Amino acid sequence: MFDVVVVGSGFAGSVLAERLSNVLRKRVLIIEKRPHIGGNSYDYYNEEGLLVHKYGPHVFRTNSKEVFEYLSKFTEWIPYQHKVLANINGTKVPVPFNLNSLYKLFPAETARSLELKLVKHFGYGTRIPILKLKKVADELGDKDLKSLANFVYEKVYLNYTLKQWEESPEELIGVLDRVPVVLSRDNRYFNDKYQAMPKYGYTTLFYKMLLNPNIKILLNTDYKEVLEVDIDTGEVSLFGKPWKGILIYTGPIDYFFDYEFGELPYRSLEFKFETYNVEYFLDAAVENYPNEYDFTRITEFKRLTFQKHPKTTVAYEYPRKYIPSKNEPYYPIPRKENLRRYQLYNERARLLNNKSKTRFIFIGRLAEYKYYTMSDVIQRALDEFKKLMGANKI
Ligand SMILES: Cc1cc2nc3c(=O)[nH]c(=O)nc-3n(C[C@H](O)[C@H](O)[C@H](O)COP(=O)(O)OP(=O)(O)OC[C@H]3O[C@@H](n4cnc5c(N)ncnc54)[C@H](O)[C@@H]3O)c2cc1C
Repeated sequence: MFDVVVVGSGFAGSVLAERLSNVLRKRVLIIEKRPHIGGNSYDYYNEEGLLVHKYGPHVFRTNSKEVFEYLSKFTEWIPYQHKVLANINGTKVPVPFNLNSLYKLFPAETARSLELKLVKHFGYGTRIPILKLKKVADELGDKDLKSLANFVYEKVYLNYTLKQWEESPEELIGVLDRVPVVLSRDNRYFNDKYQAMPKYGYTTLFYKMLLNPNIKILLNTDYKEVLEVDIDTGEVSLFGKPWKGILIYTGPIDYFFDYEFGELPYRSLEFKFETYNVEYFLDAAVENYPNEYDFTRITEFKRLTFQKHPKTTVAYEYPRKYIPSKNEPYYPIPRKENLRRYQLYNERARLLNNKSKTRFIFIGRLAEYKYYTMSDVIQRALDEFKKLMGANKI
């Protein structure tokens, strides 16, 4: 039978399935509740033949040579530097907000004077979280810097965050730090060492990772239909028969423990796809609308995939409340009380491991209730694999 069961076929589950089967020749069963592999990184060709990302735009970037080299075994790459524009007062400006954005929004003389002040206080090329910029501007008591910081905060960050999370940014740990203000002319959204898109898309990459006769994949199946875990005794049965081995779980941790400590909240999204009879629709791969409309951003997939096609498909992204079993859990909500609740589940997982003959590994954005980039989660999975080998657990 199977040595390893993996719940979920996103990067967390697929990297571990690939390593365990290819390196250690383990027999792996992947159970996936969706009708496809790839988790949230899944892409597909729509009816017009355009490659689109079903769960929102996924741009690959990493500073880890190990992650980049690992993925390169399964894909060729198209070099790609991601650029995002935000619509501010009717003008499209680069995001993260940088010196080019400043000059686009203010008269040249005002922009020049603000640039000199910013560079004097922070240094050219610095990446400053907006709340830090606001705080320092306040402390300096500089009227011009203060009004710039407030303008950027409100026009670029505040309304976007309120729309996205329905919460004020101050309540959300670390969210504003993800996109700093940049004191340079670099219009790139990311500054990671490796930035590229998989040449034939993510789903093809996943197929190549999982192409091993020792890996079986069960789609359209919630793991609870075929696998039972007694969370008090640690006993496991698979297809109705006792089973022990390694169980890699990448689904929501609260669901695993039957919501014993209550639900972990998420934000959800709705994507409305439109195909237009023009070659290009936007001026960048992603355009943000912080202050107008109900959607937060529009993505034009051809600008990510470099596909040649007379038509173009875009996705409008609408933030939604997460309703279990109705829509998808996308972003863990990083409030203190949620992180505390997650710790209760994490402790429960530790206790379960202490008494069970099966080794349980909770990994990935849902099982660890954490915002991870693809690179983060791949690195986590590679490290977990090394730990498993080192601990002689297999
Ligand atoms: C809108 C959006 C945009 C993003 N953009 C980027 C980006 O540009 N760049 C980047 O690096 N990262 C991006 N990310 C993050 C990226 O999606 C995650 O890092 C990645 O998906 C994490 O992989 P994972 O395996 O942990 O989770 P997932 O990919 O979500 O995989 C988990 C899998 O488990 C399955 N599952 C859940 N419950 C069960 C169950 N009960 N039974 C069976 N299967 C189950 C799910 O169906 C899913 O397939 C983005 C995320 C979102 C939401």
